[in-house]
Amino acid sequence: MANPTAFLREEYEKLVEGSLDWKLWVLEGPSAPHTVVNGREMIMLCSNNYLNLTNHPKVKEAAKRAIDRYGAGSGSVRPIAGNMEIHEELELRIARFKRCEAALVYSAGFTANEGLIPQLVDKGDVIISDELNHGSIIDGVRLTKADRMIYGHSDAGELEKALKEARKAEYRRILITTDGVFSMDGDLAPVDEIVELAEEYGAITYVDDAHGEGVLGDGGRGIASHFGVEGRVDIEMGTFSKAFGVMGGYVAGSLDLRLFALNKSRSWLLSASHSPAVTAACVAAIEVLETEPQWVRKLWENTNYFKQELKSLGFDTGISVTPITPVIVGESSVAKRLSERLFGMGIFALPIVFPMVARDKARIRTIMSAGLTREDLDTSLEAFEKAGRELKII
Ligand code: PMP
Repeated sequence: MANPTAFLREEYEKLVEGSLDWKLWVLEGPSAPHTVVNGREMIMLCSNNYLNLTNHPKVKEAAKRAIDRYGAGSGSVRPIAGNMEIHEELELRIARFKRCEAALVYSAGFTANEGLIPQLVDKGDVIISDELNHGSIIDGVRLTKADRMIYGHSDAGELEKALKEARKAEYRRILITTDGVFSMDGDLAPVDEIVELAEEYGAITYVDDAHGEGVLGDGGRGIASHFGVEGRVDIEMGTFSKAFGVMGGYVAGSLDLRLFALNKSRSWLLSASHSPAVTAACVAAIEVLETEPQWVRKLWENTNYFKQELKSLGFDTGISVTPITPVIVGESSVAKRLSERLFGMGIFALPIVFPMVARDKARIRTIMSAGLTREDLDTSLEAFEKAGRELKII
């Protein structure tokens, strides 16, 4: 009898042959600006821990206190016996922070997109999506019976063309979905233009603000605040796994949205609620953002310095306008060698290669943190310069 699971190894080996397999790095300490990776001290340049809230004393303390008061787990899904007062409190805090009516927390940003998007549209509707949207939006879209249209990356002209077509076809609902910040290039969706177009064509807007909150806008309130369109994006989706430094996803908008989402999203209804520690840490992270504006300021100070210095060294940093700064080197093999050289000099910054980006656009993706000092940045820049010259990138 043939082995029915033989494909597991065969498919894995194919990935290895194509250098498409993931090798896992092990952090032997917290996710912090300085940490130990695979036994070596590193300056962290590739975590989403933008504000270093993973290590903020108030955030850690809140998690510890919540365990003492509420225990280690929630015991159930929210609609049955897992809806604790801190879950409700977190949602009120998110709504206040995002200056909207209501919010709903999901186990992760991924499950928010995957759970809600397919409920918003159905047969007879259309979803219009940026070609570079995150995989969790793509999976959400794949679960709908709605028609799909894809527009060129951040191309408001193409989006309008799609909207015209959609209007002509007399769909019941039109849903526009986009990432706010695109995580491979660090560029922004033109959310102001998207909102204008949506209002003109009667479409619903759904913006994934995973890399925008804690980073962009007034006090890190996100991309809608950045573009001055707060209150005009119908559904703002976010995550606690990046600038907030914890984990968990959410959607924010109207009270109607909350009630709809909690009654319809299968990933919400059928998956246990967050542990008290996670939930309390999220509440504390919002509180830190509201009361300690210095972290967002420091993040941008670091970002502007690092980006400018990389450019002056002659590196191609693409079209980034955010703390995600790619160092584009072309071939995958060069990106991999650059990352290895940096690792050798104590800098943890990983390569992003095909199929995540085009074959000739392989890169090292750096992500800035407010927890890095000027000295850390200078050490990193020296390493980039040295490795860049060795590999004849600059
Ligand atoms: N959307 C975007 C744009 C993301 O970058 C990510 C994280 N990779 C997610 C959604 C998923 O968020 P989470 O880590 O909370 O599942």
